[in-house]
Amino acid sequence: GAAPELPDLPIQYADFVAWQQSEANRSRLDKELNYWRSRLGGELPRVQLPTDFPRPRKQTFNGAVVEFAITEATTQCLRELAREHAGSLFMVLVTALNVLLYRYSGQRDLCIGTPVANRQRAELEPLIGLFVNTLVLRTQVDPEQSFTGLLQQVRDTVLEAQAHQDVPFEHLVEALAPARDPSLSPLFQVKFRLENAPAENVQLPGLRLERQPQQLTLAKLDLSVDMYETSDGLVGGFEYNTDLFERATIERMASQFAELIARLVDEPGAPIGSIGALTAAELERQRFAWNANTETYADTSCYHQLFERAVAASPESLAVIHDGVAREQLTYDELNRRANRLAHHLIDRGAGPEAVVAICLPRSIDLVVAWLAVLKAGAAYLPLDPDYPADRLRFMLNDAGVRVLLTVSETALPGAAARVDLDRISIDDLPDDNPAAAVRPDNLAYLIYTSGSTGRPKGALIAHRGLVNLTEDKIRKCDVRAGDRVLQFFSFSFDGSVPEFVMTLAAGACLVAAPAASLLPGPGLRDLLLRNEITHMTLTPSALTALPYTAFPKLRMVLVGGEAPSRELIARWSEGRRFINAYGPTETTVNASMVPCGNGHPLTPTLTPSANKQLYVLDEDLQIVPVGAVGELHIGGVGLARGYLHQAALTAERFIPNPFALGPEDARSQPDDSVLYKSGDLASYLPDGRIRIIGRVDQQTKIRGFRIELGEIERVLEQHPHVDAGVVIARDHGDDKRLIAYGVASVDDPDEPAKVRRFVAEKLPQFMVPGALVWLPELPLTSNGKLDVDALPSPGGRAQRRDTSPRSPREELLAGLFAEIIGVDRVGIDENFFDLGGHSLLATRLVSRLLEQAGIEITVMDLFEAGSVAELAQRIEQKQYLDPLLGAIEDDDEREEVAL
Ligand code: AMP
Ligand code: MG
Repeated sequence: GAAPELPDLPIQYADFVAWQQSEANRSRLDKELNYWRSRLGGELPRVQLPTDFPRPRKQTFNGAVVEFAITEATTQCLRELAREHAGSLFMVLVTALNVLLYRYSGQRDLCIGTPVANRQRAELEPLIGLFVNTLVLRTQVDPEQSFTGLLQQVRDTVLEAQAHQDVPFEHLVEALAPARDPSLSPLFQVKFRLENAPAENVQLPGLRLERQPQQLTLAKLDLSVDMYETSDGLVGGFEYNTDLFERATIERMASQFAELIARLVDEPGAPIGSIGALTAAELERQRFAWNANTETYADTSCYHQLFERAVAASPESLAVIHDGVAREQLTYDELNRRANRLAHHLIDRGAGPEAVVAICLPRSIDLVVAWLAVLKAGAAYLPLDPDYPADRLRFMLNDAGVRVLLTVSETALPGAAARVDLDRISIDDLPDDNPAAAVRPDNLAYLIYTSGSTGRPKGALIAHRGLVNLTEDKIRKCDVRAGDRVLQFFSFSFDGSVPEFVMTLAAGACLVAAPAASLLPGPGLRDLLLRNEITHMTLTPSALTALPYTAFPKLRMVLVGGEAPSRELIARWSEGRRFINAYGPTETTVNASMVPCGNGHPLTPTLTPSANKQLYVLDEDLQIVPVGAVGELHIGGVGLARGYLHQAALTAERFIPNPFALGPEDARSQPDDSVLYKSGDLASYLPDGRIRIIGRVDQQTKIRGFRIELGEIERVLEQHPHVDAGVVIARDHGDDKRLIAYGVASVDDPDEPAKVRRFVAEKLPQFMVPGALVWLPELPLTSNGKLDVDALPSPGGRAQRRDTSPRSPREELLAGLFAEIIGVDRVGIDENFFDLGGHSLLATRLVSRLLEQAGIEITVMDLFEAGSVAELAQRIEQKQYLDPLLGAIEDDDEREEVAL
């Protein structure tokens, strides 16, 4: 009932609103808008923090808060630092938050929102009403700059932003009209607020006041950091969206921020690139504890000596079986003697440490003998696939400076000087004792070429030390015992074959080899596994997926490698046996990680370092990334390649000085820790230290386990005189991928794509030949001039001159299945399954689909021999009507005659 005692206000909120909307103010704001346009116009970066859950399509606002605090001492230092640089506490904290966001996102262009009181005139001070506005602070982080350097930039940004603070935020959004994404707030996704209104001074009679943590269940943004000053230092909270982040993630982030601030204060002159996000405790754990896997191994031996020990232990055990047309086998003693004779012959031909001996042989017992002989001679082997194009073989022979070529007389190898044809030499008189080559663990054991983005394959140089370490680790982790049967699945020219050979023949187990056709993942392989009582096998995930599942009572251990297996695949094959996800680039001696999955272990395929190796997920400044953040996987330790042959620049790019190397005097130092290999794989840490592979930093891709640089195919395409520009993509096709090439032609000839494809097939191995080649008038580009991958057309069947539509229901069925399985729109009846991009795995799929869908039984071999719809239809006809006829007189002696 009393009259108000307060003095009248000079103006009211309504006056302010009227002024804000006045013409005069509007034209003033237009000028201010120009400032914001210059800062925020064009495409705005969005801060991409690694989220724990996939981002909902539409932005949500469920939230929680994690509290944190900065000690009074550090807060004091922050204030001084601010003063020294003519800035405010707010500016120092914004700068620190930018550093944290840079560490998590790797982005150098960052926008942070911040609220301002926006009561810029004395008359507005006492008004009740909403004045608060939001400013966008955009910062460019340069890792070479110091914290104080960045602070200067932030200071200028903040001052300018404050000078232009009264453009209402909604007005700004309207004017900038940024591309809206319903899953994100516009302009910024992270907010920072420092509340410096003195809150401590409130006194109420008879009451004690205390600050309580906020119990918010709301989050306005991905992340908002709120801080306020108390007499005990700064306190604050990370308010986060609970649909994006787990609490533990934000707890880590908050304690990292607190520790980061302390470190920045300690060393404000250090380059930002040198300041990691991890707390000291996290650094210790991620650097050492998660890499603690030192194992002793025969570090003074070379691989063949491990084999010779196995020979001495059980000379009469079976060492190798070749399950081919005829079944051949050798005991350890027989294998050793044959390898020794050949080794003595090779030594006579000049083979020895650091000399390269090429081996170009089909899958056979001889291949195993030759492989051992080269190592026993002290030389390094270079595997050559007899099916590779001559061009490529010639390149490898020359590049590697091959001393001797081990082959058989039927292979026509271009210009190979010193060749030894195994079917022509007679070496039976040579001694069969172990040669004593002066080869040391650091000498070269083998040289394997992988696809190279410059258009030429690159040879990785691997020494015995890594091979021996691999052997022992494999035997331990895969539990290989004397008498076990190990499948030899991988092609000799890929390093997947290396562990199959080395672990088997050092453990006294038996290697089971077979011709390539029996290894196609279909019923044939299933029978091979059963017949030979295979205990251990390693397949690519795609091959394992295609292998028909039955009970394999003897199969104890299944490994997959080359690509990440799916959880379903792991679940199916790990039941009742051990299953290992093997990971590793050729450059690190096959395996850098072997992790058991399923059967009591998690189903997610992950990585942990193999024996005597280290794995680090690093950002661009080579700082270990926090759990959850994405970085590049770097691999160190025993077994790193020496580098790439004759490629010093590429070697220096991929094999970098190890920033974590410790001197030998440090108790925690690891052997061979001077270099790290950059794998090119994007990865992140799980909270328990296991690592997840996420993708690639580059254009390297894997198709059915084959490692392919798309750039290599593109460069070969462009070598054709009629191709001006080539682009190759690996497009998903079901659970598979297929290569599609696009060429911009300088010649208008409808037959040209086929000719170019043949040209490419003459230069590249089959797995690198694109299934389809599409002619384009020009490459589609995005508005900023990059290739617009989404605008590339999908390939149809090739243009045909004559009518090639199916002529019968059977052809129709086949044409439909071809198109579906290969992933093209239409298939003409004369087009070859393999030319269209079909490969052996797709062939097995076609075989089983035909059986399921139409009860028609064909083999993969039928498809190889009758590859077009027309031919295959004819062959099926023959099988259905002629073969039963033959079957009826199966046991008749005349059968052979009839067949003839
Ligand atoms: P390669 O040198 O042919 O063994 O290829 C090595 C590359 O294959 C790696 O850098 C990965 O990109 C990929 N890779 C191999 N094994 C795996 C795996 N188990 N999980 C995911 N990626 C893999
Ligand atoms: Mg590998």
